[in-house]
Amino acid sequence: MGTAVLGGTFDPVHYAHLRLAEEALLALGLAAVRWIPAGQPPHRATPKGAAAHRLAMVRAAIAGNPRFILDAAEVERQEPSYTVETLRRLRIETGAEHSIVLLVGADAFAALDTWYCWRELFELAHIAVAQRPGVSLDPGRLSPPLAACWRERFAPEARVLEARPAGHIVEFPTTPLAISATQIRALIAAGRSPRYLLPESVLDYIQDNGLYRAPC
Ligand code: ATP
Repeated sequence: MGTAVLGGTFDPVHYAHLRLAEEALLALGLAAVRWIPAGQPPHRATPKGAAAHRLAMVRAAIAGNPRFILDAAEVERQEPSYTVETLRRLRIETGAEHSIVLLVGADAFAALDTWYCWRELFELAHIAVAQRPGVSLDPGRLSPPLAACWRERFAPEARVLEARPAGHIVEFPTTPLAISATQIRALIAAGRSPRYLLPESVLDYIQDNGLYRAPC
């Protein structure tokens, strides 16, 4: 059984992340999901929450699930964290034959060709794309290089993930949850509660540490 990787800023982690990971395990027949909070993501704005807080919130959110594993390597790096480097490291750890599956939401996939060394991602891992409310996964709307990549690599059956260690794109269904970290930060900054959008333990951590109170 393969290992999934879920990267993100998790600023903060919320229920859509948790359902995405849980449903990926079931739909794709994976052994575990490795959660990798980004340290200093190079391709987007600096996260509002400090890396140590984002790490602690993911730790609280996944506590008690033995199939969810926290990987702090990107947070501990001083330099910008690139997914391709994380996957190179994981590939060395797991060996050449192990199936690695990078989980991404449809919005993240649509921007994949802006990632550092994005083509190399497919030498290191499969990519499994989760639908996200409000984001179309129509290959016709992808950039030409990404659309070509989709045509070459898309497989309709998740079974392919076991047959090879890397190289395919699959889609998997998830319960549509229109939750975003942006929405949660905005609610807190407006003095409103984001409860029920994220685990209580994460909300407690946010309140205890006074996070996201400044306007986004
Ligand atoms: P922000 O609002 O700050 O951009 P976010 O809620 O999109 O944050 P990220 O940490 O950027 O959260 O997301 C990590 C991964 O989870 C990405 O691949 C993203 O596409 C996916 N994801 C986040 N929210 C959802 C959602 N509601 N449905 C499906 N996928 C999601």
